[in-house]
Amino acid sequence: MRPFDYQRAERLEHAAQLTAEANTLALAGGTNLVDLMKLQVETPQTLVDIGRLPLGTIADEGEGLRIGALATNTATAVHPRVRSEYPVLARAILSGATQQLRNKATTGGNLCQRTRCYYFTNIDQPCNKREPGSGCGAIKGIARIHAVLGASDNCIATYPGDMAVALAALGATVEIASERRSRSVPVRDFHRLPGDTPEKDNVLEPGELITAVTLPAPVGGIQLYRKVRERSSYAFALCSVAAVIDLAEGRFTRADLAFGSLAHKPWHDPRITDLLVGSEPTLALFDKAADLLLEGARGYGENDFKIPLARRTLAAVLCEATGVEP
Ligand code: SF4
Repeated sequence: MRPFDYQRAERLEHAAQLTAEANTLALAGGTNLVDLMKLQVETPQTLVDIGRLPLGTIADEGEGLRIGALATNTATAVHPRVRSEYPVLARAILSGATQQLRNKATTGGNLCQRTRCYYFTNIDQPCNKREPGSGCGAIKGIARIHAVLGASDNCIATYPGDMAVALAALGATVEIASERRSRSVPVRDFHRLPGDTPEKDNVLEPGELITAVTLPAPVGGIQLYRKVRERSSYAFALCSVAAVIDLAEGRFTRADLAFGSLAHKPWHDPRITDLLVGSEPTLALFDKAADLLLEGARGYGENDFKIPLARRTLAAVLCEATGVEP
């Protein structure tokens, strides 16, 4: 680990001011950032500890729920309203990491976690995300966990988390503040596709901090999170599906779906909702939904299997939600 300056922010304005400086990063739970600093993937000159800011509250917000940026993943997953009214979120969080990590990891940090691409975490390898212009080792290399949707010639990394996939299905919003302004961004638009600037994972600008995530009023229905991974715990998804489904008189009345570990961001395609809502659930319909999801999908050799895997995982989730026999 390289030497760095450590500062503790006592107020949000102070934190925003400090993190607007070059080579400065905010430290919350540290479960991802400290690992990356040990590997010298992240080499901030200054680390601003935001852990004492009053951003850990989970509270009603109108009919919805506001989850502070420093609320731990454990606190969120066990919150009574999350468990009863947003179970897809509790399931997604509990499928991630380990209990010890969830006790430290925060809402804001979870959203900002970085890719697990092997080339990104090895400073001896080329990686446009870590060092723009150095090339992408994964495109012709080891790409088993990499993206099949929305990738670019510069980067094929995935966003690896689970929580944000559920938040995308629920239509949650990220609250962001800086010294000068506050703004809200739908979770579906918070993470970026890599394009020509894969070093930018999300839309945060220097000096901007996540202050909370807001969930809309509960919608009920059947809420599922299915995560396919190499082993049953402490592993990142190869493909995941978050689903909020409702049916009436044998037809879909709600079908909000988001997909994890297929792209540089939680993937949400409104055309799938448009296709499903109003239709009777059938295997043929689920196949059409997968056609829409995977339109333009591209494998890079080792991760070709993710394309049929995503199709099967989507069908499995829709069968479980609707009772259609697989
Ligand atoms: Fe780096 Fe992205 Fe290529 Fe991985 S896929 S080596 S993160 S540029």
